[in-house]
Amino acid sequence: MHDHRRLGRELDLFDTDPLMGAGLPYWLPDGAIVRHALEEYVREAERAAGYRHVYSPVLGKRELYEISGHWFHYNEDMFPPMKLGSEEVVLRPSLCPHHALIYRSRSHSYRELPLRIAELGGMYRSELSGVLGGLTRVRSIQLNDAHIFCTLEQAVEEARGALDLIGRAYDDLGIRAARYRLSLPGEGGKYVADPALWERATALLREVLDGVGVEYEAVEGEAAFYGPKIDVQVVDSAGREATLSTVQIDFHQPERFDLHYIGADGAKHRPVMVHRSIIGSVERAVAQLVEEHGGAFRVWLAPVQLVVLPVAEEQRPRAEELVRRAERDGVRAELAGPEHGSLGARIRAARLVPYQAVIGEREAEAGDLVALRLRDGRRPGAVSGAELLRGIGERIEARGGELWEAAS
Ligand SMILES: [Zn+2]
Repeated sequence: MHDHRRLGRELDLFDTDPLMGAGLPYWLPDGAIVRHALEEYVREAERAAGYRHVYSPVLGKRELYEISGHWFHYNEDMFPPMKLGSEEVVLRPSLCPHHALIYRSRSHSYRELPLRIAELGGMYRSELSGVLGGLTRVRSIQLNDAHIFCTLEQAVEEARGALDLIGRAYDDLGIRAARYRLSLPGEGGKYVADPALWERATALLREVLDGVGVEYEAVEGEAAFYGPKIDVQVVDSAGREATLSTVQIDFHQPERFDLHYIGADGAKHRPVMVHRSIIGSVERAVAQLVEEHGGAFRVWLAPVQLVVLPVAEEQRPRAEELVRRAERDGVRAELAGPEHGSLGARIRAARLVPYQAVIGEREAEAGDLVALRLRDGRRPGAVSGAELLRGIGERIEARGGELWEAAS
């Protein structure tokens, strides 16, 4: 495993500046590419699973969080309110209240349920500066969040569908889940008091976990203040465990916001809210990718997917042409010419780039040919540019961990 903070700086993915503030990292171009690819992936997966995306503001009036309960149960983690005339506005500590309001803004029939609302949105947490570092403990968080408004009968199926999405995303990203945790409330007044709701939600989550057939541990003191949750835990380079993905079944927020839908009987009924996050925050997900892969991202996530290396100036036009073709095909390609040093030095500098295409005198004379080298050290040898771009395109599409077919 690798330390994402050190690699983040070395690979020019992200950094911080004391003037922007601790826990407020910024993303450099290569990091932004990884983040874009990840965000696009999540949106696509969600669209395919029937989610609809919204945008909502990153702040709201203090009253909103009083209704949601954050103000009373989660205050320690929130930024202090800002005075605005006679109002107080707060940087939001979660997206749930906004999505509850979006649901409430229109009337809903049982036929529309389950209604899945998703957003990759900002939220804020007033972490103490002492625990800040890299992308894992940040004050500004981009959360991959969604809320499913459904009937009680649909809740287990929806939660199970969310766990499926999480499993598939981990496969596509090459992230390993360390364990599943059923997070229950602990002692103290941090949690809303309604034992019957807690028991009901816990029973449903156990049904979800048992149905999926994964092993899990129930841990007290790790629940959200409004309900129990399933946490998917990952381990970082220091062996520390953290939560990446979550699934919750919530009876509390629908009560607080007085949400309802019109049932088949024409009467008002209370929906259940399933909160879920596939990759958690974009920050933590990228940190985990760096820790597990050391910057050798899978092809579809790599900031640069192909580096083209003309041996000498004479081959530059051929190299430029290949880069242009790659870009046209949607492959992120760069040219590293002789001005960057010897061929060996350039290959070393590009060691994290999945594909390295060397064009020497022989390749240039043969027409559309490159000498292909792979990040994993293999050298498939002479390959046509067309074959190379087709091969890369297929691997971007597949999102797997394989770079090229195994040597025969
Ligand atoms: Zn939520």
